[in-house]
Amino acid sequence: MNEMLIYFFVGVIAASLLGLRTLYAERALRSMRQIDSVTGLQGREGFAKAIDRLLAAGKPCAIVALDVSSLRAITETHDWEAGDTVLREMARRLGLAAGRRGSTARLAGTDFAIALPGITDALIASTAARRLMTDLEQPVSWNGQQLRLTVNAGIALAPKDGTNAASLLHALSTTLAAAKKERPGTLCFHDARVEDELAKRRATEPMIRDALAKQLFSLAYQPVFELGSRRLKGFEALLRLNYPGHGNVSPAVLIPVAEETGLINAIGAWTVAEACRTALNWPDEYKIAVNLSPVQFRSGSLNSSIRDTLQALQFPAYRLELEVTEGLLLEDTDYVKTQLTALEETGVRIVLDDFGTGYSSLSYLWQFPFRKLKIDQSFLRNMEANPQVVGILRAIVALARSLGLPVTVEGVETLEQADLMRSLGCDEAQGYHLGRPMSQTEAAALVLRDLAARASAPDMEWHNRIAAAS
Ligand code: C2E
Ligand code: MG
Ligand code: MG
Repeated sequence: MNEMLIYFFVGVIAASLLGLRTLYAERALRSMRQIDSVTGLQGREGFAKAIDRLLAAGKPCAIVALDVSSLRAITETHDWEAGDTVLREMARRLGLAAGRRGSTARLAGTDFAIALPGITDALIASTAARRLMTDLEQPVSWNGQQLRLTVNAGIALAPKDGTNAASLLHALSTTLAAAKKERPGTLCFHDARVEDELAKRRATEPMIRDALAKQLFSLAYQPVFELGSRRLKGFEALLRLNYPGHGNVSPAVLIPVAEETGLINAIGAWTVAEACRTALNWPDEYKIAVNLSPVQFRSGSLNSSIRDTLQALQFPAYRLELEVTEGLLLEDTDYVKTQLTALEETGVRIVLDDFGTGYSSLSYLWQFPFRKLKIDQSFLRNMEANPQVVGILRAIVALARSLGLPVTVEGVETLEQADLMRSLGCDEAQGYHLGRPMSQTEAAALVLRDLAARASAPDMEWHNRIAAAS
């Protein structure tokens, strides 16, 4: 009996060891299958996991699929070795483009893919994809010959075209298939409407150049009020362009094109100077806020440009607020932190604009030198449909207060919203109900009116103050 038991246990152990071995062998095989032996790139499965990880971390991304179509002809005309050389070179170039944060893959045959985190804008995605295509199309040296390459590509944007890797890769495969049917060098977006939109936006570039040359830009000033005292605190400067024959061109159209073309640096420098020049006409206690684009931080000269402006105009730095959005914080964190800290050292106040719209990582609030938080207007816009928004607003205000940060709410369109935000402890407010963006002359009149109210009627109600603003 004992002998039988021993045989039984030996049998169980042997079987389980064998089972484990099979399991490990299978895993090793699976992971080998995921890594392409020629290029060293991961395959579709690994790439899908990388995308899902990005999405789970709340990071949007642009995914570009590229077909190096001439590879087939190269392998046929030369040999497999020539084909492999090109494949390896493509992988190297893609890896350089992806950098530390991106992810690359060989999806199949001549199809590659790259995920570029942090890109949400179609125009920026299209520029990045075009640059990639140009990189990949550079000839590859092989056996003393120059192998010429052609590339077609498709773009999908996450989360716009899908909220998980499976749906995005599906979108991408149909897009790339469409691009492959066109002539070499074709780039397609998953959503065809995006391409029309891009064409419209590209037409904006000459308009911006002309407006800069002819000094057609202007600023509108939207008042910001303290909720408790209902006093005017200052204004936010907003870019305006009334282009002959086109009418008003919205910043939503202008800014992305200006960013794309680098013209934002010239516009940004002008905006800060013009806003400060206007604010010099008001008493010192009124602040002026200016929006900065993440692209301006890349120029390397933002800090000195702002210092020079303050110096040249003798404008006190503490009166200037610089608004940045979360998009900036997705860039190289250390670089951005150094830039923001250097800016803050000039004495200006850095404000986090549109809080709550993007990733709203709470670590932003203590990692970067913010001195104020602006709650995005979408909260108030959605409040009626979603009463739980009030709870979120209360939590944001409490959080900011516990960090010692004043809070401004944007998009106040009714008296009830102003009262609610005041009851939640929000410090300042801005919105159509309190004052629309106005001209320099109207802003000056509002300042005078506020000064008068301070002296004679400190408790003046909103409707009397607002009557003055309109
Ligand atoms: P932002 O900085 O969040 O500016 C607030 C936007 O909300 C402005 O739109 C303003 O007119 C609008 N707004 C204010 N109160 C209300 C309200 O009660 N209801 C609604 N529905 N909207 C309200 P605008 O002027 O079209 O600017 C849009 C965005 O363009 C700005 O958002 C800012 O991100 C950007 N922008 C504007 N001027 C500049 C600039 O000089 N430089 C840069 N880099 N960006 C700018
Ligand atoms: Mg702003
Ligand atoms: Mg805002």
